[in-house]
Amino acid sequence: MSLSQLARSICESPTLKLNETAALLRDKGEPVIHLGGGEPKSKTPIDAIVSCSSLLQTGDVKYTPADGILTLKKAIIRYTEEHYGRLVAPENVIVSSGAKQSIMVLLHAILDPKEEVVFPAPYWVSYPEMIKIAGGVPIAVTARDGSFEPTVEEMAEAVGPYTKAVILNSPNNPSGVVYSDEFVAGVVEMCEKRNLYLIMDDTYNRLIFDGRTPTNCYHFTQVHNLDLSKLVVINCVSKMYAMTGFRIGWAVGGKEIVRAMTNIQSQETSGPAAPSQWAAVGALNGVQSSIESLRLTLENNRNVMMTRLGAFDGVKVVKPGGTFYCFPDFSAYEKDSQKLSRLLLDKVRVVTVPGREFGMEGHLRISFCGTVKEITEGIERIKWALDPGAPNELFLGGRRLVRDWR
Ligand code: PLP
Repeated sequence: MSLSQLARSICESPTLKLNETAALLRDKGEPVIHLGGGEPKSKTPIDAIVSCSSLLQTGDVKYTPADGILTLKKAIIRYTEEHYGRLVAPENVIVSSGAKQSIMVLLHAILDPKEEVVFPAPYWVSYPEMIKIAGGVPIAVTARDGSFEPTVEEMAEAVGPYTKAVILNSPNNPSGVVYSDEFVAGVVEMCEKRNLYLIMDDTYNRLIFDGRTPTNCYHFTQVHNLDLSKLVVINCVSKMYAMTGFRIGWAVGGKEIVRAMTNIQSQETSGPAAPSQWAAVGALNGVQSSIESLRLTLENNRNVMMTRLGAFDGVKVVKPGGTFYCFPDFSAYEKDSQKLSRLLLDKVRVVTVPGREFGMEGHLRISFCGTVKEITEGIERIKWALDPGAPNELFLGGRRLVRDWR
């Protein structure tokens, strides 16, 4: 078989692969605990279901404009005004099949071959591959002090003559870290001075804890006319409304870039699925209590996770300020995160994601979007598997396990 160079260079999404592996093991009756997941457990808000069903009941489900239906754009405009204090026009908005597609068409719209995109590590697994698909070169910046937030100077050092864009994702997948206002302000300033696109991936910014408010990048911009600005803000219904399966995300940016993205999207996929767009209209215009209820559940889960991990000698963890992920450092037990993740799956049937996929060895991404029971039992199993001081027997799904590897 002859595949393109591109196809040969792109890796499979490790998180989607892990979902498949977990599902296969569960089908075989294995007592899997999935702490590798990337989606909240809560149900779709009722207003989304009603709005989606109303369209389905007409039986009239047709193509939509390539950049999304106007009703959804209006709901996004209202959302942008409420949460960012910015009044934008429909031409500043493109609706895509998930935040992922918005980012992908944006990268296609801005990158020429070999141009570079700079982003902090740890980073969402998909950024490097998406940048490569668009012909660009991913440049990850790791903080020298070992933290999850590099300095603005470290980001600036990574910017060179071929840099076209910077991506910031806060709160961050996988670390849960909310970048400081100083950092975001500094990066906005740097991008404006150096004429770079700044892609703000705000996918998780409503899922934020400890009374903090999400950082609003527009507060720091000096370019107040959005159509002259290179700031593009990405959002979606996937995480905040737990609507991952609907595949609706959007970008807000200058008219010219949105038009270019729309042209690409119109040729690649056309507009997103109409029922999903109407579901998103329902979610955005309906009762908003589901977001707060999810946020509170996640904050409680985060606290449980921190208590459990805190009882783990040798594991270093930074308390997440948002999302539903944490990114503990397990290198005292095992430096090779893929080996460690494999061991935990093989021996105690706990799914985690190796830190290497996010650009940091020695760490594991552990999700707390499941139930408290899954978190406590999952961490207990991990502790049993790694801690030589733990009793060497464990009962798992009626099976007696004996630890014979440590
Ligand atoms: N951005 C980040 C940082 C994510 O973690 C994800 C999903 O995991 C996405 C974007 C993609 O969101 P969507 O499911 O809407 O495509």
